[in-house]
Formats: sequence, structure tokens, C-alpha cells
Amino acid sequence: MPVGNGNGQTDYNESPPAVDERPDGAGVDDLSAERHKVSLSFVQAPPDEVLVGGELNLTLCVQCPSGCDLTGHTLTIKGPEPILIDGLELVEFDGKVGKTAPVTIKVPPKLGEQTWTVLCPEAVGEDIIHEEESLDFSFTVKPHPTSMAVWNVNSPFVVGEDFEIIVGVKCGLGCNMGGQKVVVIDHEGNEAASGQLGDEVYSAALDLYWTAIKLKAPDTVGGFIWTAKFPEPDGHHHECDYHFSFSTTEPPDCEVTVKLTDKETGDPIANAQVTLRPKLYIGFTDEEGEVRLHVPRGEYKLGINAAKQAPRGIEYKIGEVPRVTRGYEYIVYVPPENAESLTPFERTYQIDEDTTIEVELVGIIEPPEEDTL
Ligand SMILES: [Zn+2]
Ligand SMILES: [Zn+2]
Repeated sequence: MPVGNGNGQTDYNESPPAVDERPDGAGVDDLSAERHKVSLSFVQAPPDEVLVGGELNLTLCVQCPSGCDLTGHTLTIKGPEPILIDGLELVEFDGKVGKTAPVTIKVPPKLGEQTWTVLCPEAVGEDIIHEEESLDFSFTVKPHPTSMAVWNVNSPFVVGEDFEIIVGVKCGLGCNMGGQKVVVIDHEGNEAASGQLGDEVYSAALDLYWTAIKLKAPDTVGGFIWTAKFPEPDGHHHECDYHFSFSTTEPPDCEVTVKLTDKETGDPIANAQVTLRPKLYIGFTDEEGEVRLHVPRGEYKLGINAAKQAPRGIEYKIGEVPRVTRGYEYIVYVPPENAESLTPFERTYQIDEDTTIEVELVGIIEPPEEDTL
């Protein structure tokens, strides 16, 4: 069903077509011909918003109140460029309304509101003149939505030292963002560094165009929030930003070696996550069950998380109930005194010099959460 209306309906009602009132200069044809005022509309109203680079699909209708068949008559669409479409022919007539074929127009790459005009020029026939009519319509051209992320922020950083982060940007419509500029703004609002996105996405899981950016940590100890920014680049993409936080520490002067062994077998425990807090220092044990962390002097809480998948066929007990592993269970390494609660190792140390901490843990089979027995 047609929607919208031409803007000439009132003119038609206000201009009396009576022949004897016409000015003397009117031509003979004009005096004898009937004048019809057509109305213009769309089969479907154009959208209010179009993304830059997008298209408008329009089908126009022309209706003469007297029911004239205007097939073959042509329309023009005008926009910021003088003429967008010319010779748009009415190809269908259903007895009341004439219709054009659908037409697709690429929106000019200019942001903001645009007003276009559909023009139905005057058509002079032998007995009937169809008067010129026009229809304006407006829409807003918007940039593509974008989003960004920052990762590999391996805080804390030593005061005044260089560090590197990865900044990624994605267009919601999947444009290649390679070559676009990104900047990093520090906590005082100054540009700390800038970079250019590469031509390939980071990974299937992180489909962002990315670049590594080198930065220099502030000279003071503390916590900081900086902002990675994708500034309005090309008029086609929305700007966006991403805040990331990190902390700085004094230069490390102590090496802490943590060595993990299985109390029952004497084997080293590899691939365990070892942390020192409150500022997070993090590492993983090697095949020898060892990891070295470099920290400033101070008091630290040492935390150890270690687990591995249990092989099938090991006998164990839950309470007094004997069980055999079926391949869904984990062996969790905890201090012997935590064998019941399975609470990971955690203890506080004062670190004032290079220190080696040896920890013996026991491997306890943790039953699967969804127990189907
Ligand atoms: Zn007509
Ligand atoms: Zn895009």
C-alpha cells in the first residue's frame, strides 16, 4: 500500500481551474486542456537512517485522482548531486496507481542529514495536462559502528620502563580496518603513542584488526587508567575507545624461586600457576616444578593453583564410597591439611632478599561436578 503524499494537494484545492477566470495571456491549449494534479508516494517509506556506503531501495508510485494511466511517464530523483537518477519510468498501472520498477541508489559518502527530491515533471497531453509534482524525503547517513579492545597488558610494569600492549579495532560491518590509526592517551590526557592497524585479524576468536603499541610506564608507583582510542578516522567509521588499567612498581630487587613437588611421589609439579600479591606477579612452573619471579622487597601472599586431568581407572574414595575415575576427574594439588576442602595453597612471606620457597603438595582427585553415578 502506498505511503506518503505529494506536497501539492492544497495547491490543487486553492487554485480554481475555472476557464473564465484565467488571465488573458493563457494559451489556447491551456484553456481547453484539463489540468490534473498527481500525487507521489513510495511503496515502502525510505529508512530514517542509512549507513555510509549503503544503498536505498526505492519504488515510486504516481497517482492521478482521475485515474489516468501514466505508464511511460518518467521521474527524476535529485539529491546533493544535481541528479541521482533520471528517466525512472512508470512501468506498471493497476487501474489506480502507476509504479516504477524498484531502483537501488548508492548513498553518497557524506555523513549527516540528506534531503532528496523526487520530481514528476509536467506532462502535456492533447486534452490533459498533468502538472509537475515533487516529493521531498530525508534520512541521516551514519558511520559504521566500531568497537575496540586492548590486551596483553602484563601489569605491573616497572616505573619508567617500556612495555607493549596490543590494540584491536573491529567494524560492525566487517570492513578491513588495516592502515587505520589508533592512539593511546595517558592518565593526564596526553597522547602516549600511536600506531597503525595491520591488514589481518588477530585470530578466528579475536577478529579485530590489531597492532602492538610500545609505551613507557609512568615514573611514579601507583595505579593508572589509560585509554586506547580509535579517533574518527575517515568519516565512514564511528570513533570508539577502550580504557585499560595497570599498576607500576619499584624495580625488582629480589628473585623468588618457587619449587613444587608432589609430597607422595617426589615428582616435580609442572605447569602450576604461581602468584604473588597484592600486586599481581604471575608465572608457571617448568618441567622441574620451578618458577622464578622478580619482585621489589615487601610482604607477599604466595598462591599456587595446580591441577591436571586424572587418567581413567584410578581407585579413589569420596567420603567412604569407593570410586574409579572415568576420565572426567581432575587431580588438584593442595597442601596435605587441605585434602578435605581442596583449598589451594596460600601463605604470606616477607621477601627481603633472593628467596627459595619449596612447597610440597598432595594430589587429590576432584570428582566431576555433574556426578551421574
Ligand atoms: Zn489524470
Ligand atoms: Zn565499516
